[in-house]
Amino acid sequence: GWQLTISIFLVLALVGTFFYLLTTIKKQNQLAMLRKSFVNNMTHELKTPVSTVMAAVESIQRFGAKDDKERMNRYLNISKHELEHLSSMIERVLQVDIAETNGVSLNKTSFELATLIDECVENTRLFAKKTISITFQNDSKNSLIQADHAHLKNVLTNLFDNAVKYSSDEVKIDVHLKEQDDQYILQIRDNGNGIPKAYQKSVFDLFFRVPSGDIHDVKGFGLGLAYVKQIVNQHGGHIELDSELSVGSNFVISLPK
Ligand code: ADP
Repeated sequence: GWQLTISIFLVLALVGTFFYLLTTIKKQNQLAMLRKSFVNNMTHELKTPVSTVMAAVESIQRFGAKDDKERMNRYLNISKHELEHLSSMIERVLQVDIAETNGVSLNKTSFELATLIDECVENTRLFAKKTISITFQNDSKNSLIQADHAHLKNVLTNLFDNAVKYSSDEVKIDVHLKEQDDQYILQIRDNGNGIPKAYQKSVFDLFFRVPSGDIHDVKGFGLGLAYVKQIVNQHGGHIELDSELSVGSNFVISLPK
């Protein structure tokens, strides 16, 4: 009778709620664990430059390196290098906050997207520590956009850095910009390691890194793509990934004009 129907319904609802809670707790635990390992790694990474700079400063004080110009310069160069590293890590911690919470308040100005891409392509070419061939094909007639210049620059830098990081020693990156209706479509294609299908959605999650065993031991915190997605979405755009293991990855960003 109806009592049985209600009982079955209640039991199903209870079981459903139970499993829902279980997965929620599991997810929360996973995130807490990832966060913890992030904090541990970051603390470790932050300590190294600090103690290096400390040692350099102490040496200058103790050994009177002030009078030894060459030695002094060496210590100052080391310190500068380490401080730059420190500053880029602090920048990343700020990116976690942006990716995790409601994002950032955008400071939009009007500029040519193609010019920004050119600049980032040039920087990648200059600073990549691998043999690199990077091309930019611009098929847009004009690429004027209303966007946050600094954050879009970070977005591109993150994607280019990844393309270089997750590649063999000979990197090939093809960048392509075109217009489609009221959107700009930007493709960044590399010939790197690629990402297995099973992980292609997760790479945009905060702290997620593709488990790679010990094939390619690349340092990172799993922040970049979460930040990239957050910023692209905040501009009313989308980011998609198409990738094949050992062939390469293609990140496609669409941004409203
Ligand atoms: P991180 O590089 O610090 O680990 P990201 O959020 O930028 O963090 O990337 C998340 C993961 O996605 C990386 O750990 C890597 O496994 C994978 N990945 C990102 N970009 C690429 C790429 N171009 N080619 C291959 N794998 C990539």
